[in-house]
Amino acid sequence: MVYCNKCGVENPEDAKYCQGCGIELNTHPEPKIQDHKPYKNSSNEKSPLGAAALNLLIAGAGFVYIKKYAKAVLSFIIVFTMAIIGVLMGISYVLGILALIFVMAWSYDETKKYNQKLN
Ligand SMILES: [Zn+2]
Repeated sequence: MVYCNKCGVENPEDAKYCQGCGIELNTHPEPKIQDHKPYKNSSNEKSPLGAAALNLLIAGAGFVYIKKYAKAVLSFIIVFTMAIIGVLMGISYVLGILALIFVMAWSYDETKKYNQKLN
């Protein structure tokens, strides 16, 4: 059944005009436009600085934070390998620290991309 918007009289589904007042019935009403914007779930956003900082605790942890596990493992291997090469070359952890800075910058960038995909 279709109810007339003007007088409220019940009309058959296929009625073109209202039986009560004669007004043309809108049988195909336009879907109501939602007046509120879609809810933006900002709680899923990750902090790029947080991701970079996590790598200071464990190299690659910043990628685990944004669920990029392959990059997390890769980052760990890069930092670990560079640190060992640096020590073998007699320049202590300089290479390892440089690799860590690279991984931090990389995870910072990846976290920003991660947030863009959410929105
Ligand atoms: Zn009517």
